[in-house]
Amino acid sequence: MLDNLGNRFQEIFKKVRGNGVLNESNIKDALKEVRLALLEADVNYKVVKEFVGKVKEKAVGETVLKGINPAQQFIKIVHDELVELLGGTNARLTKANKPPTIIMLAGLQGAGKTTFAAKLAKFLKKKGEKPYLVGADIYRPAAMKQLQVLGESIGVGVFTIEGSQDAVKICEEGITKSKEEHATYIILDTAGRLHIDENLMDELKEIKKMARPQEILLVVDAMTGQDAVNVASKFNETLNIDGVVVTKLDGDARGGAALSIKAVSGKPIKFIGVGEKLEDIELFHPDRLASRILGMGDVVSLVEKAQEAIDEDEAKRLEEKIKKQEFDLEDFLKQLQNIKKLGPISNLLKMIPGANQIGDLAPAEKEMKKVEAIIQSMTKEERSKPKIINASRKKRIAKGSGTNVHEVNKLLQQFEQMKKMMKMFSGGSMPKIPGMKFP
Ligand code: GDP
Repeated sequence: MLDNLGNRFQEIFKKVRGNGVLNESNIKDALKEVRLALLEADVNYKVVKEFVGKVKEKAVGETVLKGINPAQQFIKIVHDELVELLGGTNARLTKANKPPTIIMLAGLQGAGKTTFAAKLAKFLKKKGEKPYLVGADIYRPAAMKQLQVLGESIGVGVFTIEGSQDAVKICEEGITKSKEEHATYIILDTAGRLHIDENLMDELKEIKKMARPQEILLVVDAMTGQDAVNVASKFNETLNIDGVVVTKLDGDARGGAALSIKAVSGKPIKFIGVGEKLEDIELFHPDRLASRILGMGDVVSLVEKAQEAIDEDEAKRLEEKIKKQEFDLEDFLKQLQNIKKLGPISNLLKMIPGANQIGDLAPAEKEMKKVEAIIQSMTKEERSKPKIINASRKKRIAKGSGTNVHEVNKLLQQFEQMKKMMKMFSGGSMPKIPGMKFP
């Protein structure tokens, strides 16, 4: 996600730090590179000009030159301007005074509208709401079916009228049905087109007039760069949208769309799509994304992700087991699987400040898969009493997991070590290290 841009910024900052003192001449050089980095990222040129102008104004100011650590200050100025560019504060969904809140989605075909409709429904359901989906994408027949399948998979009701060519009618009946079902949110998945045309805009205006949604979200594809920005401006002119959803940010190394939308269209990004799975949706936080782009990590998102993946009751049970020294390979396997739920390790590490320096993590991921396979090839009894794993069992486990006896031994030894560590720390007393005094 926005890797190219991130790498460029980090190179620039490295140079700035290396300079020790900042003067007008090296600020000028750094600004030139910031400008190039943004243009390469496909950010709208007017936006780039304004951005560089603002950074320059602040950076050349006396306070910076007299500052204690000018390089850090320069980075902070760029960071703060980036946050501003991305929209400044977090933009949230409008909620109706009295439920249901109606959210109308719009966007061109292929932008990820139908996927987002389901992602949003899942997101709201997790928050304890009762969403209902209305499929009115009459121009892509598969879209209605797709929405029904997605709705079923997340346990959310879907309304469509198959074969109907009247999007306004589908939305109208869908709203009635959703209200009967006591939905708290109604998500209208409207029709897309390959290009913006008058028919599309007229139809959307009609739906807006009938549904009077609290929120109109435009879904755009990050990978289309400046086209996405133009689409946002055009839709906003005709439809007066409330916010933008930028999808496929996971595949977007450049970031031009995300960085230009607010400045060009005037409307904030409210959500981002970061993958094809239904949980790959994030509320948009300008400050967090700016930190991620600049390699400052995003610890807040990391913690949130961890909290979502870890079940608190399970964590308590685990703590008890560790205390009683009953932690076994089965528990270890569960922990590995929990970590996996968080996504690829490389993505996680990007959220930790400075961790991008670590290098290739593919070997670590491979190692985790191997350990998982080995434990999965053990019987329940073996997992709880690894002591019974004799030579012939080891051979069987190695064969079953596609590894070898040496690797099985390595895991068993590591697990023993881990248990020893747990024993030391769970007894409430710290291990005594000679020469070290504890307060
Ligand atoms: P629609 O025509 O706008 O309704 O588009 P769809 O919802 O059918 O999505 C088009 C394609 O984009 C599908 O293959 C989706 O899986 C994919 N897609 C949607 N959102 C994302 C995302 O955030 N990341 C990635 N990688 N793919 C996405």
